[in-house]
Parts: sequence; C-alpha cells; structure tokens
Amino acid sequence: MKLLEGKIAVVTGAARGIGKAIALKLASEGASVAITDLAYNDAAQAVENELTAMGVKAKAYASNAADYSDTQKVVDEIVKDFGRIDILVNNAGITKDGALKRMTEDQWDAVISVNLKSVFNFTRAVQPVMWKQAGGSIINMSSVVGVSGNANQCNYSASKAGIIGFTKSAAKEMGVRGIRSNAIAPGFIETEMTAALPEEIRKSWNEKIPLRRGGTPEDVANVTLFLASDLSAYVNGQVINVCGGMNT
Ligand code: NAP
Repeated sequence: MKLLEGKIAVVTGAARGIGKAIALKLASEGASVAITDLAYNDAAQAVENELTAMGVKAKAYASNAADYSDTQKVVDEIVKDFGRIDILVNNAGITKDGALKRMTEDQWDAVISVNLKSVFNFTRAVQPVMWKQAGGSIINMSSVVGVSGNANQCNYSASKAGIIGFTKSAAKEMGVRGIRSNAIAPGFIETEMTAALPEEIRKSWNEKIPLRRGGTPEDVANVTLFLASDLSAYVNGQVINVCGGMNT
C-alpha cells in the first residue's frame, strides 16, 4: 500500500522547480494531483503528462495564486474535478531582491502578494473543503531566510516569516478538526530561482552549508511527502528546515 493511495493533492506553482518535484513525489506514492501555475503552458502540460503517465489522475490549471477570486475559482474547479482535497502545498513563490534603500513599492507588493497572500488565498479557499472532510494536511513553503533574515531580501524574508506565523495560527485554529498545517524552510536549493544568482553568491552559500552542497528539489519533496502523509500524523504547527545544516 502506497503512502498516499486515494488522496487528492493540490500543489501551487508546480510547472517547474520544487513544486514539480513535489507533484511527482506525491504521485509516486499514489496521490492524484492537481497542479496550478500562472499559465497552462508547455511546462505545465509536460508535468501533467508526466503525472498521468505515472497512473494517477492529474490536471494542470492556470491560476494566479496571488489573486483572491482566481484562487476561489480554481479551487472550486478542482473540487468539481477531483471530489475532495486532502493535501494542499502552497509552493508558488518569487524573488525580487534588492537593497532596502533601492527597493521599490512594486518589488515589495509583488513578493508579498505572490508569496504570502497566495497562502491566505489558497488556505482560505481549501479550508471549508477540509473542514467538511474533517481532515487534511497543509504544507507551506517558507525559507530559511524567513527564520533568520537575509541582506537584500527584506521583502522575501518578510513574506516567508509571515508564512510561518500564518502556519502556526492555522495549526492552532484548525487542528481541532484534524487539519494539520506545517511549514518547510528550504535553504539553498538548486532551481531556476537560485540559478539566477551570481556565481560568487552561489559559491559563498555552498561554503556555509555543513553538508557542502546545495539541496535538490527532491530533498524538499521528500520532507513534503512526510508532512503530507500519516507518517506525520502528530506533527502540527511546525517548521522543518531543509538546509543541509545551514540553519541550526
Ligand atoms: P522557481 O523555480 O522559480 O518556480 C516557482 C514556480 O512558481 C514557477 O512554476 C512559477 O511559474 C510559479 N509561480 C510564480 N508566480 C506564481 C503565481 N502568481 N501563481 C502561480 N504560480 C506562480 O522556484 P523554486 O526554487 O522551485 O521555489 C519554490 C518555492 O520554494 C518558492 O516558494 C520559493 O520561495 C521556495 N524556496 C526556494 C528556495 C530555493 O533555494 N530554490 C529556497 C527556499 C524557499 P512560472 O513558471 O510561470 O514563473
């Protein structure tokens, strides 16, 4: 028996990177998976096909996670197509880094909307479904910089710290109904998001990591699987760092 047989998962921002690895991991343990991304493009379609080829039900949806009404609409569609939602992974995220003295209002608003408001949007929309089912697991993608801060990332680290507060409050509010909420704080994970950083910054990050390597999307997906499954049935309101020991 696979860990997630019969479960329905929603993963936001899953056309590539960590979200894609999570969708594939959950499917490999038997979950049916709805993925969302900004557009239903070639990348989203390729993930949808890969999931379907694994023998699970899968569908990709175009949805802007930062938009409240768009999110309500897509969650309604997912429930219509899949019947229920057992696992929600709030993964969609962006960076717009810069020194605070030069950070624009647009840089601030975009990062807070996509990273933090999206967690409210999706959790708000999915919560009645899980409440009715009397169970569910919500996993929010924070970051080590949400725990410890980072120069030139005031917007990003504020969004990721906000996710931690949100996760802990949701855990306290919805635990009574068997709905668990936890956060993952990845460190330096090799994706397109970190590939955009200058080589010297990437090198200096690696030197700070006790395991002396960047993480892989699969490293994060494995912890997501743990939090999505009943292996973590008594884990609620926690933040798990997946950072090779960088944050201790
Ligand atoms: P990524 O490679 O840039 O992928 C992000 C995904 O989110 C993309 O598919 C992107 O879609 C999607 N997305 C962006 N804005 C969206 C929106 N408004 N609505 C729906 N989807 C949207 O990033 P990643 O490295 O996989 O990161 C995934 C999550 O982990 C993020 O929350 C990130 O902050 C967090 N994280 C990453 C690291 C790291 O080292 N990589 C570390 C800590 C935390 P498009 O393809 O259309 O742009």
